[in-house]
Amino acid sequence: MSEKEYDIIVVGAGNGGLAAALTAADLGKSVLVIDRNIVPGGCATSFRRGRFEFEPSLHEFAAVGTDENPGGCLRWFKKLGININWIIPKDAFRAITINGDDIYDVTMPTGIQEFTDAIEKECPGSRKSLEKLWKINKNIREAGQYFGSGKMNPLVVVLKYRDFMRASAHTIKEVLDDIGMPRKAQSIVSSYWPYLGNSVEEMDCMLYMCMFDSYINEMPAIPRFRSHELSCAMEKALTDRGGEIWYNTEVTSLIYEDGKVNGVRVGDRDIRCKHVICNAFPENVYAKMLPPEAVPERAWKLVNARKHGMKFFTIYLGLNKSAEEIGFKDYTIVINEDSDPIKQAEYMSDIKKSPVFINCMNCAIPDASPEGTSMLYITSFWDADVDIGMNVENYQAWKSEIADMLIKRCEDVLHVDIKNNIEEIEICTPATFARYMGTPNGTPYGYQIKLWDSPTVRSMSSRGERFIPGLSFVGAHQEIGDGYSSTYAQGRNAAQNLIKEWDK
Ligand SMILES: Cc1cc2nc3c(=O)[nH]c(=O)nc-3n(C[C@H](O)[C@H](O)[C@H](O)COP(=O)(O)OP(=O)(O)OC[C@H]3O[C@@H](n4cnc5c(N)ncnc54)[C@H](O)[C@@H]3O)c2cc1C
Repeated sequence: MSEKEYDIIVVGAGNGGLAAALTAADLGKSVLVIDRNIVPGGCATSFRRGRFEFEPSLHEFAAVGTDENPGGCLRWFKKLGININWIIPKDAFRAITINGDDIYDVTMPTGIQEFTDAIEKECPGSRKSLEKLWKINKNIREAGQYFGSGKMNPLVVVLKYRDFMRASAHTIKEVLDDIGMPRKAQSIVSSYWPYLGNSVEEMDCMLYMCMFDSYINEMPAIPRFRSHELSCAMEKALTDRGGEIWYNTEVTSLIYEDGKVNGVRVGDRDIRCKHVICNAFPENVYAKMLPPEAVPERAWKLVNARKHGMKFFTIYLGLNKSAEEIGFKDYTIVINEDSDPIKQAEYMSDIKKSPVFINCMNCAIPDASPEGTSMLYITSFWDADVDIGMNVENYQAWKSEIADMLIKRCEDVLHVDIKNNIEEIEICTPATFARYMGTPNGTPYGYQIKLWDSPTVRSMSSRGERFIPGLSFVGAHQEIGDGYSSTYAQGRNAAQNLIKEWDK
């Protein structure tokens, strides 16, 4: 380990941290990344049980696109010379609702035309409203390209990107009602809401449409060797550019002198830099890594006003039969207790009824596990408080009971036998994620996105939220929120903006 002074030290090698470090190294800055884990990626990693290697987090990567029509992430990777072997699943998702006014079991394709035709077939009379939604989407896309070019003339924004403005100021529910989309079509179109972690009544339409567009238009994708392939490729691109990474090393505090952060402390060792970028959660940094006088009241007020994002309960299953033998044909299946997206969100406080996503990895990557076997992930989204401090015995019994219940729920809805074919099982609760990522309550979603605290609002005030000189943040808790493409984009923007300021 060297004792040199770095331009930038990044605390945490999660997606946001790696993206920021790589961007800074690519722009010629000296960079050191420090992570307490022994592999890169944070959530974006890999673990093995028996003969199965599991993907812990990535179900679907947004904003990849194709070689002919590349999305933002693919363009960025290409620019950096990172080549990923992307696999595109056959369909967008299969959505099933059990109760409510509009019970359905539909498989939705990718592609704007194909998706529109499928909705019209399932809910006759929906086409017009969906076409209106795509029109709004086009305007949001064009606004994004305008902002991406570095321009921000308020008059141009107001006159040319009206739908973008409206979609930023209204919830998805309000927009879908306003364009007259029938209720059942609204329910199907809203299927992705758990990916953003808040109800259709609370989340802005602009953010939802950015995600919807990137899955339906640009198509969801998975790297052939899953998220670990991404993290390793980024780590290599970083070290090729002279960046350093220290693993198995926890940053215990930040060095705060003369009103400014100018380094990190690892045990009793000081490492100096011009600027620290933290991939760790702001409140952890404020409470544990800085002296109280360094954190202004406004910083505390802001983190206290925000609500932690949703928590996950995920079951990773290695099955001793192939996907075909078990009866899985779809890569992503969404099961909802009720067809009403508002009730779906209310059910997040009850794990027995909360939305469930099921991914059968072999339906996208047939040889993801040994021949004659398959891998299944059952993810339930959860917004209730969890007693992470419960004792070990209670914890084991509690998580086994929930896993049993979730597996049974899937078996009953899909008419498949999962339980009798389990060879390996790993059950991850919010406590597991909290221990691995160090996020409050184990949320992988940062702070909940709300209309008052949407990506547009956060982006406009992001400069003002840099409360402590020499310190900024990247990750799911920042402007764009959770997800792979979002945390990469946010990490990239944070490093670019910082260096632009230095250049000025
Ligand atoms: C089960 C599951 C499914 C998901 N599915 C998808 C999906 O399909 N598509 C999608 O786009 N997103 C998905 N996500 C969300 C996505 O994985 C996360 O939003 C994203 O990876 C978070 O990245 P981050 O930059 O916030 O870093 P994190 O992953 O939170 O990593 C932070 C890193 O900082 C390190 N760190 C923290 N404190 C310190 C310290 N003091 N010293 C040293 N190191 C420190 C931690 O060790 C960690 O490595 C999923 C997440 C989960 C858990």
